[in-house]
Amino acid sequence: MPKLKDIENLSAKLNDTCNAAGITRVLEETFSSVDIYIYDSTSETLRDFSKSWISIDEFGHKEKAKILYNIFEKLKDNREITEDNTLFYALYQGQKLIGMLKFKNKPDKDRLELLNVASYLISLKIQNIILSVRMQKNIDFHDAMKNIAKIIETQYETSYIIPIIGEMIDKFVSEHLIYIFINNKLIWPSACKDEKIFELLKCITNKSEYILTPDKKIGLFPLISENKLLGCIVTKSTDNILSEKEISYLEQLTNQAATTINRANVYAEILKHATLDALTGFYNRHQLEERIKQEVSGAKRQNRRLCVIMTDIDYFKNVNDTYGHAAGDLVLKTVSNVIKHQLRDYDIAGRYGGEEFAIILPFTKIEEAQMVAQRLRRAVENTKIDISKINTDAEKNINVTISLGVSEYTNNDNEKTLLQKADKALYKAKENGRNKVELYEEISKNLPQS
Ligand code: GH3
Ligand code: MG
Ligand code: MG
Repeated sequence: MPKLKDIENLSAKLNDTCNAAGITRVLEETFSSVDIYIYDSTSETLRDFSKSWISIDEFGHKEKAKILYNIFEKLKDNREITEDNTLFYALYQGQKLIGMLKFKNKPDKDRLELLNVASYLISLKIQNIILSVRMQKNIDFHDAMKNIAKIIETQYETSYIIPIIGEMIDKFVSEHLIYIFINNKLIWPSACKDEKIFELLKCITNKSEYILTPDKKIGLFPLISENKLLGCIVTKSTDNILSEKEISYLEQLTNQAATTINRANVYAEILKHATLDALTGFYNRHQLEERIKQEVSGAKRQNRRLCVIMTDIDYFKNVNDTYGHAAGDLVLKTVSNVIKHQLRDYDIAGRYGGEEFAIILPFTKIEEAQMVAQRLRRAVENTKIDISKINTDAEKNINVTISLGVSEYTNNDNEKTLLQKADKALYKAKENGRNKVELYEEISKNLPQS
C-alpha cells in the first residue's frame, strides 16, 4: 500500500491545479515525464490534453498515431500496458475508458501503487478541467451573442460593424479561419485565396441553410434577415472539423449578425436624411460638408476669416481592444462633449468619420484657431473617463488624447481643400508624436483681409 502521506500530498497538489499544464506538472513531479491523451467523442479522436488539446491525427506522424489508437483499444481490457519500459495507464470515468497516461519511464513499484490509488482522482480532475473549458466556451458564446446584439444600439456603418463581428467569431472558433462576405464580396479579412469558397458561395440563396463540405472542413453560414440574403460567414480549417456544437453556435451567431447587419443597413438609409450623428449629437458628415460649403461661400463673399480644425483620437483602436467597443463609444461621446463645451455658439462641430471630428470656426484667424485647438487638446487630456459601469473589469478612469490639425481659408480654397489642409496638418501632428496641434503652413498666401 502507498503511504497515506503520499496520497494526501498528491491529492492536495491536484486540488491546487486548475489547468492542463498544472496537472501535467504534478504528475511529472510525482511519477515521471508524462503525456496525457483523452478521447474526444465529438471528433472521435484522441487528443493531447497537455498540448493544447491537439488531435493526435494532426501530429503529422501517422504511424505514431496508429500505435496510440491501438494501445487505447487494448486498454479497454487492461488497466495498464507496458511497452519498452513505457507505461500506458488507463483513465476511467466509471466503467468507461476516457483516456490514458503515457509514462516514458515506467514508475517503480511504490509509485505504481500510488498511481493505482490516485488514478480515479487524476481522471476526475482532468474531466473537471475539460468541463470548465467547455463552460468557458459557452460563456464566450453568450458574450459574443450579446456583443453582436449590442453593437446595433450605436452603430450603423457596416464597414465598422463587420470587422467587429469577424473578430468576435474568430476568437470564438479559434482553430478556423473566418471570412465574411457581403453580396458575394469579401469584406473581412482582406484576402481569401480559396477558390473553392467562391464556388460554394454561388450555391447560397436566401432559402439556404448552412452548407458543410463533405470533409466538414469548410462551412458556409448564410446571413439571411427578413428573407433577404445579405452575405455569408465562412469558416475554414485545414485540420479540425466543425463539431455539432460549434455548428449550432455558428448558426445562432450568424442569425444574430444578420439581424444586426440588416438593421444597420436600414438605419444607414434613414440616417442619410438625418442631420445629427446618433452617438455624439454632432452634425453628421453629410451635414458637416453642407455647412462648410455655406461657410466657405460666406467667407468668399464677405471676405471673412474662417478656420477649420480636424481632430482624431490617439490610439483609439487600443481603447476598443483593451476595454471593449462599448467603452470606446463612451470615450467618443465624452470627447465630443468636452469639445462641445469648449466651443462658441457659432462654431460648428461635426463627426467626420469614426473617431474624427471637424470643427468649423467662422470669424476666426489661424492664431485664434490654434489657441482653440490647444484648449481642446488640454481639455481632452485632462478629462477622466469613468468606464467602470461599462467594463467592470477595467480600472475606473481612463484618459485619451487627441491630435489636431488647423487650416485657414484662403481665396484659393473650396470646402474640400480647406478640409484637406486641416487633415494634412492633423497627419503631421500624428507624425510628431500625437497629443499635438499643428498648423497647415502656406497660410501667408492670399489671406483675406479682416
Ligand atoms: P491613431 O493615433 O493613429 O489615430 O491610432 P488609432 O488607433 O486611433 O487609429 P485607427 O484609425 O487605426 O483606429 C481607429 C479606430 O476607431 C478603429 C475603429 O475600430 C474605431 N472606431 C471607429 N468608429 C468607432 C465607433 O463609433 N465606436 C467605437 N467604439 N470605435 C470606433
Ligand atoms: Mg485615431
Ligand atoms: Mg482615425
